[in-house]
Amino acid sequence: DYCPGGYMPVSIGQTIGPDDRYQIIRKLGWGHFSTVWLCEDLAESQAYYAIKIVKSANNFKTVALDEIKLLKCAKEKDHDAIGYDKIVLFLDYFTATSLYGDHLCLTFELMGPSLLNLIIQSNYQGLEQEGVKNIIKQILLGLMYLHEKCRIVHTDIKPENILIAVKEPYIRNMVDHVNRFNELGVQMPKTYVNAMGWNEAVELYDQSHEEASSSNIYTNRLDPRMTSCPNKTYLNDFSKAIKSKFENRSLSPLFVDPGIQVKIADLGNSCWENHHFAEVIQTLQYRALEVIIESEYSFPADIWSVACLAFELSTGDFLFNPQATDHLSCPEDHLGLIWELLDGLPPYIALSGRKSSEYFTSSGSLKRISSENMKIWKVEDVLVDKYQWKRVDAILLADFIESLIEPDQDLRATASTALTKKWLDAVDNQ
Ligand code: ATP
Ligand code: MG
Ligand code: MG
Repeated sequence: DYCPGGYMPVSIGQTIGPDDRYQIIRKLGWGHFSTVWLCEDLAESQAYYAIKIVKSANNFKTVALDEIKLLKCAKEKDHDAIGYDKIVLFLDYFTATSLYGDHLCLTFELMGPSLLNLIIQSNYQGLEQEGVKNIIKQILLGLMYLHEKCRIVHTDIKPENILIAVKEPYIRNMVDHVNRFNELGVQMPKTYVNAMGWNEAVELYDQSHEEASSSNIYTNRLDPRMTSCPNKTYLNDFSKAIKSKFENRSLSPLFVDPGIQVKIADLGNSCWENHHFAEVIQTLQYRALEVIIESEYSFPADIWSVACLAFELSTGDFLFNPQATDHLSCPEDHLGLIWELLDGLPPYIALSGRKSSEYFTSSGSLKRISSENMKIWKVEDVLVDKYQWKRVDAILLADFIESLIEPDQDLRATASTALTKKWLDAVDNQ
């Protein structure tokens, strides 16, 4: 993807922005649309930002311009509203030119790892309930602001898009991490660095060395470009070389502060209540019932995703992980899983989507999954049977989750009403 129309080639230490104001320190992440970099603001002492550098092709530019409009709305709508500070702050944007074209660059407040990193750090066992409640509460406050004030549907609530706030020492440690890496004198051919080498090598190193650097800020799912990289062997050798250089030096880990503050990031797929950009939204596992059957969607779709997130943070497993099989398509399997968890679906809901007749009979039962093949297994029992929770604890979380995956959108909890649920009682206000 480093090609004309694609990612901007970036080297560590280069400056970008108006008056060469920002200096690139290291890569923070990447996505379908962009690479995201830790930058130092040279015009201000000790100020660090995350700069999202968008691919240069016109279609990416168009999407980014929509993202900027949504971000501006979230930034300007109502500074004093509850939940305003639960959205990653967008600061500014500019254009940078590379040999691959013009790239929109979006400047954000610097955040740390995502909730996915926390889940991975827990070894997919989930977090303590106090922590989960604290996180979910903040996400609901952020959604309350996006929904009620900005009239924005986020459409992509998932662990990767919830980022943890970082404090000063963490940032210094992160910068230091790079300095020490540089001190080791590990060098790569310049062309390779420009193409993709250095940063991915650092990533690869971090990934192959998780015990030493529980830094884990790079436990992002592996960059797919890595596997198709023609220089993979070279990169492997390179990573081995780095590893041996690091062997006798302990890197101080980049701890995640336990009293974490989280914020909602990535409005890149978001839309307005009355101006949608896509018919099918959301990442599969977090996709709401109405989206699967292609009925109308709005704010309640985000609330569904929050339920999936609450379950995943609590157990380390997806709430729904649909798979296509020989006899079933992925959406059919998904609907089957929802059916089993909710003990059925009301026919007026099942039959309300443009795709309903593909999956349901005219009386509202699933076409290709017979009731003998279904095992009704409510959330409460899943928590008790599969995760050995105490019944009293399971009841509270199950009640919360069920009100957020209510099939009828009009009856589903909203961000505000979800905040009043018993499960969230006794969580300190953030
Ligand atoms: P996607 O494919 O998810 O749409 P994208 O190209 O739109 O990706 P983002 O999701 O906005 O990009 O950002 C990519 C990654 O960069 C994030 O998953 C995160 O790891 C990192 N990142 C984004 N914003 C920040 C920030 N403000 N501070 C720190 N890291 C960030
Ligand atoms: Mg993202
Ligand atoms: Mg995006």
